[in-house]
Amino acid sequence: MSEVLVVVEATREFGVKKVTLEMLTLARGLGTPSAVVLGGPGAAEALSAKLGEYGAAKIYAAESEEIDGYLVSPKATVLAELVRRVQPAAVLLASAQEGKEIAARLAVKLDNGILTDVVALDADGTATQIAFAGSTIVKSKVTRGLPLVTVRPNSVNPEPAAATPAVEQLSVSVPAADKLAKVVDRVAEQKGSRPELTEAAVVVSGGRGVGNADNFKLVEELADLLGGAVGASRAAVDSGFYPHQFQVGQTGKTVSPQLYIALGISGAIQHRAGMQTSKTIVAVNKDGEAPIFELADFGVVGDLFKVVPQVADEIRKR
Ligand code: FAD
Repeated sequence: MSEVLVVVEATREFGVKKVTLEMLTLARGLGTPSAVVLGGPGAAEALSAKLGEYGAAKIYAAESEEIDGYLVSPKATVLAELVRRVQPAAVLLASAQEGKEIAARLAVKLDNGILTDVVALDADGTATQIAFAGSTIVKSKVTRGLPLVTVRPNSVNPEPAAATPAVEQLSVSVPAADKLAKVVDRVAEQKGSRPELTEAAVVVSGGRGVGNADNFKLVEELADLLGGAVGASRAAVDSGFYPHQFQVGQTGKTVSPQLYIALGISGAIQHRAGMQTSKTIVAVNKDGEAPIFELADFGVVGDLFKVVPQVADEIRKR
């Protein structure tokens, strides 16, 4: 079976990201997945158990301080060399900031077509893409080169398939031309006790209706009772109620939890783009005409400051 390269998305704090497990699941429909770890020394070893659990038959490890320290350019160079050598059936990267940039550079280096924001991939390489903030679904195929796609997080159900990956170390020498921008400092996002927003099974989000930063404690309290993450609309973020890293939507993060609770959020198209694939959506809004109710599975027309404390009390009783 042909090899399919999956470029691993991981963080120092949380390890392998869910989107990587989704890509490994997708890759199995096209061939045998091989994970590519581009990081600092020791990165592959730390991730290999999880990658094997989801079917990575092989791990290519490109590990060096330079790979880790020089942003995306060297990563694209290493990947291009690997693709030329192993001639995979497809290359999958995450539709995240870094994944998209590496993919774009790789496409140029290989003179290859590229498809972004892919949510499904058929065995013949036909991709389903989400366009225009989720309002349009497109079927596309790369017509020059191999299927080089970026996969939208939370589009696929990750399915385990145990494998014992063999690790191949790639030799890495970063050419001067790739040393274009360097990481000079790393500041970890506050980890706290809550799950990571894009990976959480429950997300409780607050909008402008929450009123101010202090009131967001109510949103946090409900999230904590449900073991969930906290999200925010752009209006809430722009108003300074909650930090930007928690913004959900077109210009924020894409989430697809089992349960999404929208508190004081109107449901603008740009917000929906980041949460409309959630399995169950619950909205609390005092305006019965708010567009969020068009997509909510359950809705409460009411004042969130009255509704949320009652819900919290009920949960505490259980
Ligand atoms: P509002 O639209 O002001 O809605 C507040 C809601 O709270 C209202 O429905 C009101 O009835 C309700 N409410 C008020 N008080 C209470 C109460 N006490 N109890 C219950 N309900 C109450 N938005 C995003 O969210 N994410 C994005 O990524 C994003 N990207 C964008 C990109 C572009 C290019 C543009 C142009 C816009 C983008 N937006 C994004 C902004 C988007 O268009 C909306 O302005 C924003 O989502 C509105 O946020 P909101 O629903 O919190 O605020």
